Amino acid sequence: AKADGKGRYRWFRPSMRTAVVSRHQLKSDLERAAERGEFQVHYQPIVDLRTGRPVAAEALVRWVHPERGLLFPETFISEAENSGIINEIGRLVLRHACAHVGGWQQHVERKPGEPPFAVAVNLSPAQFAQPDLVAQIDEAVEAAGIDPNSLILEITETMMLQGSDRVLRTLDLLSGFGVRLAMDDFGTGYASLASLRKLPIDIIKIAKTFTDDITGNEEKSPFVRAMIELGEALGLVTLAEGVETAQQARELERLGCRLGQGYHFARPVPSAGIELLLQRYAEQ
Ligand code: C2E
Ligand code: CA
Ligand code: CA
Repeated sequence: AKADGKGRYRWFRPSMRTAVVSRHQLKSDLERAAERGEFQVHYQPIVDLRTGRPVAAEALVRWVHPERGLLFPETFISEAENSGIINEIGRLVLRHACAHVGGWQQHVERKPGEPPFAVAVNLSPAQFAQPDLVAQIDEAVEAAGIDPNSLILEITETMMLQGSDRVLRTLDLLSGFGVRLAMDDFGTGYASLASLRKLPIDIIKIAKTFTDDITGNEEKSPFVRAMIELGEALGLVTLAEGVETAQQARELERLGCRLGQGYHFARPVPSAGIELLLQRYAEQ
């Protein structure tokens, strides 16, 4: 029994008990999955809106569950974060992503003055509590033999809410090392502008909810327009997420957005799919 706000007691509903048990179960399942190598990384292409050229791919973790099949992050990421297993998953995603981008780069002709084809990796706030995060990233880049600017780290503004000084120092260090930083889901939190001002960000990822506003009706997308202008004024690259239609892609390009990502271009695929895409693009 549990005291409620009014000092009375009420019993847990059976469903609450189930939720607790299955959370515990999920944690041990996640530990086992890490040991057994059940996590995989898929990649979604990011394209230049003007030319359609793929310039990067975002790493997105998947759990190939022995009974339940392919599981998406929404079913396990928050428990992985709460239980600390995210650190192990994060390490794995980093290693795989760096190794894969090194392989893809063999199929891409690098344009002079442009950064190399890159891989973007999501970092969870919990990973910043690890004292060896910078060493992990350094090692992954070294082991893959890639240029540090082949790696884009995607962070969210919620990181600034937890020990912002440490996070800031870590990000400055990584940025100095040559790694690029992207602000994920830009515009959806409470501190977007403050964190943009403080952190050494290179890329703004305009959240899907704003891309959804683009319907062809000019008045409906003032936020997207303002975010692109802000990016421009700060000398940052703007990237729109969740682009699902050709009309959105056209409108974003017209508004001056540089990069796009979404089902309109491609869904996340295993590494071999990116390799194929790059080979085909090179043959065009
Ligand atoms: P995110 O970083 O915002 O990633 C974009 C999500 O939107 C991906 O979902 C992607 O598959 C989906 N998406 C892409 N284009 C479209 C589109 O046109 N329409 C729609 N409706 N969706 C689209 P996914 O792979 O399920 O990942 C969900 C979230 O899980 C990610 O959101 C990210 O926050 C988290 N996540 C994924 N992989 C990792 C990881 O390796 N580490 C950490 N810490 N988090 C991860
Ligand atoms: Ca992301
Ligand atoms: Ca995002």
